[in-house]
Amino acid sequence: MLHSLATLTSLVQEISRAPNAVEAMQTIVVRLGNLFNVPVCSLYLRSEADDQLVLAASAGLAEASVGQVSLCLKEGLVGTIAHSTHPLNIADAPTHDKFVYIPETHEEPYHQFLGVPLIHLRNLVGVLVIQGTDNQPFAQDVEAFMVTVAAQLAATLRNIQRSEDWRPQSIQPQYRKHQGIKSSTGIGCGYLKLVGSQVSLDRVKPGPWKKKSAECEIEHFHNAVDQLRNDLSVGASRLSGDGNSEVSSLFSVYSMMLDSPELIHSVEQHIKEGCHAAWALKETALSLSAVFEAADDPYMRARSEDILNIASKLLRLMQAKPDIDESHHEEIILAGALISITDLSAYPAGTVKGIICTGGSSLSHTAIVANALGIPSVMGVSDLKLADYDGEFVIVDGYRGECITWPSEALIEEFRRIQAADTDFSQELMALRDSPAETCDGYRVRLLANTGLLADVTPGLRNGAEGVGLYRSEIPFMVHDNFPTEEEQYQVYRQVLGAYAPMPVSMRTLDIGGDKELPYFEIKEDNPYLGWRGIRFMLDNTALLVTQLRAMMRASEGSDNLQLMIPMVGRIDELEAFHRIADSTWEELLAEGYEIKRPQIGMMVEVPSTILLLPKMAQYVDFVSIGSNDLTQYLLAVDRNNPRVSPLFDNLNPAMLSALELILQHCRDANLPVSLCGEMASDPAAVILLLGMGFDTLSLSAYNIPKIKWLIRCVSRELAQKLYRDASMMSSEADIRALLREELCKLGLDKLTGPTNSH
Ligand code: PEP
Ligand code: MG
Repeated sequence: MLHSLATLTSLVQEISRAPNAVEAMQTIVVRLGNLFNVPVCSLYLRSEADDQLVLAASAGLAEASVGQVSLCLKEGLVGTIAHSTHPLNIADAPTHDKFVYIPETHEEPYHQFLGVPLIHLRNLVGVLVIQGTDNQPFAQDVEAFMVTVAAQLAATLRNIQRSEDWRPQSIQPQYRKHQGIKSSTGIGCGYLKLVGSQVSLDRVKPGPWKKKSAECEIEHFHNAVDQLRNDLSVGASRLSGDGNSEVSSLFSVYSMMLDSPELIHSVEQHIKEGCHAAWALKETALSLSAVFEAADDPYMRARSEDILNIASKLLRLMQAKPDIDESHHEEIILAGALISITDLSAYPAGTVKGIICTGGSSLSHTAIVANALGIPSVMGVSDLKLADYDGEFVIVDGYRGECITWPSEALIEEFRRIQAADTDFSQELMALRDSPAETCDGYRVRLLANTGLLADVTPGLRNGAEGVGLYRSEIPFMVHDNFPTEEEQYQVYRQVLGAYAPMPVSMRTLDIGGDKELPYFEIKEDNPYLGWRGIRFMLDNTALLVTQLRAMMRASEGSDNLQLMIPMVGRIDELEAFHRIADSTWEELLAEGYEIKRPQIGMMVEVPSTILLLPKMAQYVDFVSIGSNDLTQYLLAVDRNNPRVSPLFDNLNPAMLSALELILQHCRDANLPVSLCGEMASDPAAVILLLGMGFDTLSLSAYNIPKIKWLIRCVSRELAQKLYRDASMMSSEADIRALLREELCKLGLDKLTGPTNSH
């Protein structure tokens, strides 16, 4: 089969070059038919909308039947294979008790039948079939090779299946869904505005001066630089609003690059050598971008995008073509490989209704800013060819992490309805701002905010947060271009502490490592989640820790509402060391004349060892906060950023529920206040169980507080306790979720889980 394996590799390459799904599928069946030397090879794909197995391509069966024939799961031989997920290899198909005769296919001569299921990441994609005329089953090595082929092709066919491109036009739905990574919830509808910064640079051709002298070319270039500098500063104040210094610091990176001697001198030099200004700019930008691109440091690599972006903007200014045409729509969906913060600032507040990035992750700058500004966004939509949709009406579904192109009128209406319902619901919920989060039988829950950007502070207060349960201090570090100084940190922390005073603010010391990279401090490790993370990193970099603690403590002078929180603790000696450093920092500040109340010190429970060590650790801390994101990841050994195993990542896993109960018990025994601050606190089903278990403090993003408060006010503690008892008897998260889903529906709370339309 060596020869066949080579053929298979070339087949995979050929499929990847196919111009569309239909041709890719046709290539598969034709090439496999030849490879196995059989008269029939067919591909059935499962339609996700109605669970039918549709004959999507065939070499050998009647052409007219393709796209028309379909079978239910369990129906016929193909349905039986799909249902059992086992291959079926038989000599005489019509004699099999599951055989269903389908006249349109004209398959009468082909009794010999071998079908194998196509499965990708536990999803049934379809069934691959070969048929022949021999009076015996296919040989064992043929069967084994078909299984190999199916495994190899499953991922590609899954993409085709999900794209819906495979259906014949007559039954194709009008819309297409493109899956990305969830980053900011909500629905955004509008016209896609492609931010293709490099496109215009590509069109610039070499040539001599276009003005009468080098001086005039240089002046032309400098005019554009001045204009862009001005636009940047207007954009910065438009977006940074209430003193959002993280946003301004991103602008300052752009401004710095714009004024860098490397850029200015090199353009001037090229002009003096005889090139026109646009070509000089292009040459300079491309060579600077290549230098950045080749850097080891990811921060420097990321700057390569920025320099091209800046050059495109300069070019447009030089060509007197404004970035935005006058007739731009009121509803804009900004789309690009990555959307820079200056792209966002180019539009009047409120007109950008959504963001689509083909790159990026939920922690990228765009995602952080979109979240802080409450703009629905989807990152990493890699299968979307943006240029095909420039100017088209699209929908961003931030709840599902999808965007929808070519939506039908009916679908647009449906999403508009959801959008309007979201707005009404949010307004309705605002009425609860000053009401307590209390169950209908009087169980009071404290809802705190998770925050990190200054832009989150106002929404947190507006939505009735009773303090900050988790201040992710790495976020201001991430949007800087080097470690912020004590003074810079002090300014940011002081605004947060001041805004919330006298309510408590739990500031977590820098938690980097794992997926949280600082652009200017690369940590290269084989297994970063088990490496230099959180407190481990900070204890090894005492100077950084002391600087941060000084900034936090100084910022609390007068407000006295600071609580320190330690991330990723796993050992008792880490707590001892942290205490030593925090105490000596505090004493030093007192000696310097500051009047600072000694902050309480709490720890995150997110490394499983702490669950068992809690009785011994309790004496070192004043409170505990459970980081359910990392705790789930470590307890279940499931990387939450790995799509292959993401279905296994569920906070409602029975092991996770038992762990939470044990933590709660240890905290009660030690009289330690305990809260939970991971994403679990925003999940309505999980919140009901947490109430039932006995949690009374949750910390979550500002935007989710009103919804969760509403949920809490609609349920009784008694019901939550009963549901928790029932759930703790169950063995799988799927059963637990089904139980909670049913209960949320009964209570009329299902709208909390986002749109439920089944498009
Ligand atoms: C967590 O792990 O649950 C948590 C709140 O911290 P982060 O998501 O910032 O790691
Ligand atoms: Mg964590």
